[in-house]
Amino acid sequence: MKILYNESLKKYTTVRIGGTASKLYIPQTEEELMKLLDSIDSKEYYIIGGGSNLLINDEKIFENVISMKEFNKSIENKGEGVYYIGASNKLQKIINKINEDGFGGIEYLYSVPGLIGGAVAMNAGRGKPHGVSISDYIVDVTVYINGEIKTIKKEQCRFGYRNSIFRENPNYIILGCTFKFEYKSKEESEQLKNARIQLCKDVQDKSGYNFGSVFKINDWKVMWLVRKISISNKNGIHFSKKTPNWIINKGEGTFRQATKLIKRVEIMHKMIGKKAIPEVIIWE
Ligand SMILES: Cc1cc2nc3c(=O)[nH]c(=O)nc-3n(C[C@H](O)[C@H](O)[C@H](O)COP(=O)(O)OP(=O)(O)OC[C@H]3O[C@@H](n4cnc5c(N)ncnc54)[C@H](O)[C@@H]3O)c2cc1C
Repeated sequence: MKILYNESLKKYTTVRIGGTASKLYIPQTEEELMKLLDSIDSKEYYIIGGGSNLLINDEKIFENVISMKEFNKSIENKGEGVYYIGASNKLQKIINKINEDGFGGIEYLYSVPGLIGGAVAMNAGRGKPHGVSISDYIVDVTVYINGEIKTIKKEQCRFGYRNSIFRENPNYIILGCTFKFEYKSKEESEQLKNARIQLCKDVQDKSGYNFGSVFKINDWKVMWLVRKISISNKNGIHFSKKTPNWIINKGEGTFRQATKLIKRVEIMHKMIGKKAIPEVIIWE
């Protein structure tokens, strides 16, 4: 197992903000992971997948961080659209593989820069009005819970909008997942992926680093107002002009700048009796 000492977490996140991991563990097998979890005294650890939904405090040192990027990259085709997929697979690789076999259903995640473990923890999907998410195709999830490896049926995973039992229990570690995808012709899946790529070109701000949507519940009028009244920080953190609900880091952004903006949005929602619930996971 690779262990990196005093490793900056910045480069492990898509927003390029992060503190230091005293020890960053990169397990490559189940045995390595189990041994590691047995040995961590405090039982306190942080899990990082693709780092595309994380905002990490850049003034803090985190003792034990486990990166799942090298853990299990296998995709087992069990027939009839059923697959067991290791937690470290990138979404694009999975979508291409199942499409090649004539299956699909999650092409709308083709643009998402996460790993499948993170996507399941977050129940990644399209925006709320579309009502579709990765859990639509989940059969069960194999997970490390307090010293044991268990397989949890989808019904027990408490999937909700960008929520799951895994998000509620940060010590649970997703090792892999069984899916049953739907039949999809190669023509249709190609078309869906191309449409997704085009949509992202049209609506997503690529001018800096980001973690996708900041809030999973918010009022667009309040968001618009906050953007208007916030002084634009050209080299640091600012709300995107192109993509509502996105914060952009031009390269010099800090955790403080980002959390200040997030707090401002929350306060303004509170003032008019509305709710703002962050989607991004914040390591304070
Ligand atoms: C450009 C861009 C576009 C995006 N578009 C979308 C979109 O369309 N839809 C959408 O839903 N999201 C979107 N996101 C947000 C993000 O990509 C997704 O939430 C993604 O699924 C997170 O996966 P990850 O591997 O990067 O997770 P991370 O960011 O690494 O982690 C997210 C959370 O999951 C936990 N976690 C990670 N791996 C595991 C594991 N193996 N076991 C247990 N817990 C784990 C982490 O501890 C953390 O709490 C976007 C982000 C970006 C930057």
